Amino acid sequence: MNLRRDRQKMLNDIKNEVAYTRRMIGRDRLDSRVMDAMRKVPREQFVPPEFRYAAFDNGPLPIGFEQTISQPYIVALMTDLLALEEDHVVLEIGTGSGYQTAILSQLCQQVYTIEVISALSAEAQRRFDKLGYDNIEAKTDNGYHGWPEHAPYDGIIVTAAADHVPQAFIEQLKPGGRLVIPVGSPYRYQELILIEKDEKGKIHESNILGVAFVPLIGSTANTDSASKPENTQ
Ligand code: SAH
Repeated sequence: MNLRRDRQKMLNDIKNEVAYTRRMIGRDRLDSRVMDAMRKVPREQFVPPEFRYAAFDNGPLPIGFEQTISQPYIVALMTDLLALEEDHVVLEIGTGSGYQTAILSQLCQQVYTIEVISALSAEAQRRFDKLGYDNIEAKTDNGYHGWPEHAPYDGIIVTAAADHVPQAFIEQLKPGGRLVIPVGSPYRYQELILIEKDEKGKIHESNILGVAFVPLIGSTANTDSASKPENTQ
């Protein structure tokens, strides 16, 4: 494994896919700070050892418990859509491997992240400790209701799909804040949505791109297993 070469290939793949989708996503390139974070965070440490050879491929990979680490292009795009600044406080729902969390932690002051599967949460925490990412607070919980104690947030990012935008996320957004969330049917068609709350508290919604995420557990009747966190259905 040649880390330098593989990382560069990942960055090139992201650039190419951004160019390919530029009409949909409304931008020709992503913020250079986002690309720097993608270069810096060691993605190979966030995938299971048996998939390390594919860590820099531009696709999702299994992380156990029927969950996935998201594709690099999607991680970069969602991060870019948040338009983060150094003093921002961000909430993430769906820690998973912790990779997206680590990218966020490079670009803002503090990240709060929630994961419903305790084993994934614990593993992500071990990675944050090992890599010295000390501006991340992680907890195991159902994130459907957000994390009111630390609200309001400059940015909220949801990495699992619901069939609607949970009201708690809108409420916990600061005026001027941004929410990025995939919305649609579990495992079927979903749209990545950007919600902006303006300074007067008015909500503006834009559809960005068709995506495929695992379901947000506990957000619909048929995926309501939040009381049994290990059961992801
Ligand atoms: N950003 C992660 C994506 C992981 S997949 C990464 O790149 O590794 C989405 C994650 O959301 C899964 O780990 C899943 O367990 C978690 N999840 C699903 N429903 C949730 C809920 N209601 N609250 C918190 N986490 C949830």
